[in-house]
Amino acid sequence: MGKIIVVGSINMDLVVRAPRHPLPGETLLGSDFQTFPGGKGANQAVAAARLGAEVKMVGRVGQDAFGDQLLSGMRSDGVDVSEVHYLPGQATGVALITLDQGGQNTIVAASGANMSLTRADVLAVEDCFRGASVLLTQLEVPLEAVQASLELAKKHGLLTVLNPAPARELPVSTLRLVDYLIPNESELSLLAGGIADQNVAAQTLHDQGVENLIVTLGGDGVRVELSDGGYKLPAYKVNVLDTVAAGDAFAGAFCAALSEGKPVEEAVRWANAAGALAVTRPGAQPSLPNRKELEQFIPQSS
Ligand code: ADP
Repeated sequence: MGKIIVVGSINMDLVVRAPRHPLPGETLLGSDFQTFPGGKGANQAVAAARLGAEVKMVGRVGQDAFGDQLLSGMRSDGVDVSEVHYLPGQATGVALITLDQGGQNTIVAASGANMSLTRADVLAVEDCFRGASVLLTQLEVPLEAVQASLELAKKHGLLTVLNPAPARELPVSTLRLVDYLIPNESELSLLAGGIADQNVAAQTLHDQGVENLIVTLGGDGVRVELSDGGYKLPAYKVNVLDTVAAGDAFAGAFCAALSEGKPVEEAVRWANAAGALAVTRPGAQPSLPNRKELEQFIPQSS
């Protein structure tokens, strides 16, 4: 079984409930303050590790209590955090989330230390890429770090997986290095330059050098466009409680299966099941299934 390297973000989500969202200059009394480990990079690393993959995380946190907490959480899920470094004088990435009574949220995210991961930082850990099998990355760290990780991965023969979130347009030089691009519907449209039609957007990305495109469709499942053909897979029918981190569960599970040498079709099946399980439970990392849960769920539900 090969190792997965995740180059990405590590955040603490700070969530408070309020009767409504405050107006500018207004103070409201809220309740139920809670902190949740998050960041797409960390979530996806944990998603893969829970399924039994060997995962090494490359990232940055601040030298603060959130940084300590996040690292020890990832460690307890079996993620190797030896290449996650503390940055003195910087804050760990946070997302300030206010939930109103109707469950609507407003979010202010401060990337903090995540945005200090440089190209040189990634190139400095080239040794980790030797002998690894899959690179998984997202867009919550600077593009220069993402680009460097893709270049190293290609140099050392890893499969490369990019979850292009949060969405932004990407240079062709980045897209060409990606073996599996996993956007959701809105990310697909934005990546293709604002094209809403899914077929046209997918074709546009293929024309730009994306070989394999796996579009997650929420409750509609997944659309798979591989270099040798495409198909759609419906979502598992589940009771939806909280869709947070569905995409992270999906990407992590996909890579966990690839790292075991499983064929892409099976990796997509794992991913679709992990995403479905994640929406049946509250929270981000707490909702990510383990290996046993996934294995029990797939035969029951397919
Ligand atoms: P993101 O969280 O990135 O927006 P999606 O909402 O597309 O991603 O969800 C990712 C995957 O999680 C889907 O492709 C599907 O496999 C699973 N999923 C999401 N929502 C549901 C749902 N309502 N029922 C079953 N599976 C779901």
